[in-house]
Amino acid sequence: MSARRIVVAIDGPAGAGKSTIARRIAARMGFLYIDTGAMYRAVALWAQRLGTSLDDHLNLEQLAIAADIELRSNPLGVVLNGEDITELIRNPEISQAASKASAIPGVRRALVEKQRAMGAVTSIVMEGRDIGTVVFPDAEIKIFLDAAAEVRARRRLEELQAKGQGGLTLEAVLKDINERDTRDRTRGEAPLMQAPDAEYVDSTENSIEQVEERILALVRARTSNGKELHK
Ligand code: C5P
Repeated sequence: MSARRIVVAIDGPAGAGKSTIARRIAARMGFLYIDTGAMYRAVALWAQRLGTSLDDHLNLEQLAIAADIELRSNPLGVVLNGEDITELIRNPEISQAASKASAIPGVRRALVEKQRAMGAVTSIVMEGRDIGTVVFPDAEIKIFLDAAAEVRARRRLEELQAKGQGGLTLEAVLKDINERDTRDRTRGEAPLMQAPDAEYVDSTENSIEQVEERILALVRARTSNGKELHK
């Protein structure tokens, strides 16, 4: 009896709580957690360091192809070409650069290929913008996690402040989130959108714990009766 590989795809706008939820679901289910936004951020950081313009599509694609990106789970971290960049990619400048780089078709092609390879081995919870629509359209469970922009901005601000990033205002974070969301939703290549067969979950009025339990129930309903998980 061999265990079937399960893909849980979580998509949604910035600050909806995707990372926290995806991490928790992965831990509870024993699945691998994959943060695809971190991969776009890694490419953006590399481009920034090399002084590569975000308009230079060909060179950005080459960076995305060449980037050796490792997503570590214990402890959680992001490694680019052997260097731990976990903290370096969590700031508004890299957020914006990642959003711009991610609109380039060649960059997406390169990273989607890496994401599919990462997810081909074991059961995963993968979060991003196009997981249920493009990366794993056959995912067993698809969630579109959303929340009101104000609420998302407040959560993101608290997260950044907890990491010691001072000097940020709610207005600035809201502006960053709105700009990125508009760019992510309107780009030609793999825009942020809900897959037709995704479950819409709004976390505006609910705590992380409540959202986690709801999604966990959906995942378990699809996997834990033993019939679907084993074939
Ligand atoms: O999720 P996170 O905020 O870390 O993602 C950073 C940026 O990377 C997003 O604003 C989005 O433009 C891009 N992204 C994407 N597709 C994904 C994940 C992230 O376009 N699957």
